Amino acid sequence: MASPVIEPINAEQQAQVLDKTQATLALAEQEYGRPFAAIPVLFDLRGRCSGMYRVRGRERVMRFNPHIFAKYFDDNLATTVPHEVAHYVSDCLYGLAKIRPHGREWRQIMQAFNADDSRTADYDLSGIPTRRQRYFDYRCVCQSHRLSSRRHNKVARREVSYNCRQCGEVLSFVAPCQVRT
Ligand SMILES: [Zn+2]
Ligand SMILES: [Zn+2]
Repeated sequence: MASPVIEPINAEQQAQVLDKTQATLALAEQEYGRPFAAIPVLFDLRGRCSGMYRVRGRERVMRFNPHIFAKYFDDNLATTVPHEVAHYVSDCLYGLAKIRPHGREWRQIMQAFNADDSRTADYDLSGIPTRRQRYFDYRCVCQSHRLSSRRHNKVARREVSYNCRQCGEVLSFVAPCQVRT
């Protein structure tokens, strides 16, 4: 039997998420003694990830999944929001290209936020609308790349690897919750 579809969070809950984002950024400003520009927050993420920090050119955004937030609101407020803010702060402090996505720098920021950095939320996602992914994000040292699902599947089966034409580096997969890169 199909489970009922979860309704996305409402305006009041969205406001709570924005407040939490602000408060977490304020913590970072205290901790690192410098300002961090306000960052747009979108509630347009679909699929199996709760949140995403995305950089495209000069644009930086945080995206949250309004359905997963609806199903596990308190937990996402307590962990997913600081998780994405920590990606943003680590980007501002170090540059994403220079650090591992959930490496030491990111974990230190999570500790400063007093937030859980285990990042293995084991949510039951029944009732969450899914999305078929057409592109997968990869990166090398110099830029980010998008591979079609056909190419991505080949890489996943270890049949092939692709190199960046600019820098020659082998492209590595960026976990989808983490386009964040
Ligand atoms: Zn490259
Ligand atoms: Zn992450």
